[in-house]
Amino acid sequence: MRQRKRIGIILTLLLLVMSIHITASTEELMVQEDNVNVRSGPGTNYEVLGQVHADETYPILQQQGDWLEIQLDGYTGWVISDYISLNGNNPDSSTNSESDSTIDSVPATSPVYDADVDAITIQHEQTQIRKGPSTEYDIIYFADKGDRLEVTGEVGEWLQVKTDEGEGYVLKALLVKKTASTSGLAGKTIVIDPGHGGDDSGAIGANDSLEKDLTYKTARELEQELTMLGAEVIMTRDEMTFVSLSSRATVSNVLDTDAFISLHYNSVPDLPDVTGIGTYYYHDQYEPLARYIQTELIKESGDNDRGMGFGDFQVIRQNAKPGVLIELGFISNPEIEQLLLTNAYQKKLVTGIVNGLQHYFATN
Ligand SMILES: [Zn+2]
Repeated sequence: MRQRKRIGIILTLLLLVMSIHITASTEELMVQEDNVNVRSGPGTNYEVLGQVHADETYPILQQQGDWLEIQLDGYTGWVISDYISLNGNNPDSSTNSESDSTIDSVPATSPVYDADVDAITIQHEQTQIRKGPSTEYDIIYFADKGDRLEVTGEVGEWLQVKTDEGEGYVLKALLVKKTASTSGLAGKTIVIDPGHGGDDSGAIGANDSLEKDLTYKTARELEQELTMLGAEVIMTRDEMTFVSLSSRATVSNVLDTDAFISLHYNSVPDLPDVTGIGTYYYHDQYEPLARYIQTELIKESGDNDRGMGFGDFQVIRQNAKPGVLIELGFISNPEIEQLLLTNAYQKKLVTGIVNGLQHYFATN
């Protein structure tokens, strides 16, 4: 019985993988060559954001002349059609090695969620379990890799699961093990430093949000996203504790850190209209990291661009690794503070940081 159950769970996960492929397969391409450049626009004059490789498949977003815009892990980019083939409606062209053999034997109309299968296994550390079936809902808690959760229902792309905290929802896509070979973040070690903490609240918002809570919220969302993309993430502090600035830099220095990201929010209570995001580096060679992150943050968030530049902050001054400190917005502005409390806006900030990192790793 136990064995049968396990096989059922594995089948469900395979079906999840498959269904994602099938829905995307009508507009997918397969790369035919190795090291094909992905560019920021439809032409060779646009900058290179990364590369894709033979046999990888990607959803197509649009076409312009000989160029196709594709969806990569966490970002989009353009590839020239010379090096790709269109998959059309052929689900067999899936290259997911984990599921190839099974896909052939399963009809394309199989339901994703099999009512006989009553539990799922969490595939990633810190998988978000939310209050409702959308990222607009709050996170109830983070499940650990290997956790088994009873499935009680299904809503669109979400599975309803039973947890110690009550009913929760997990995005089906999070249950698929990603190889992340194309993300540029696979295998990278990223240290995330949620500013302030413990007795040090940091800045206080127009409606009394604390900077330390918001930096921690952003840090957790960022951690989740980077982990999904194959990065190893280290946090400099947990939710409650205070950690000294020099210890935060030391964490980064003693590890094989590829990037150190310190998260902060700003406040000028006397000038509640002031808004904007700024990104700072200390050591000259890390200026590109700050520049890419700032550019992507503004693009995603739509907040005021306060620019990037040199900043004499201890956590990046004492840091020997590529480090930036980001001031992600003014919590003294009531509208920004309100936005920052929403998951949707937090996601935009996280996407900006992740895209900036991808850009940096693709070119450094
Ligand atoms: Zn701060």
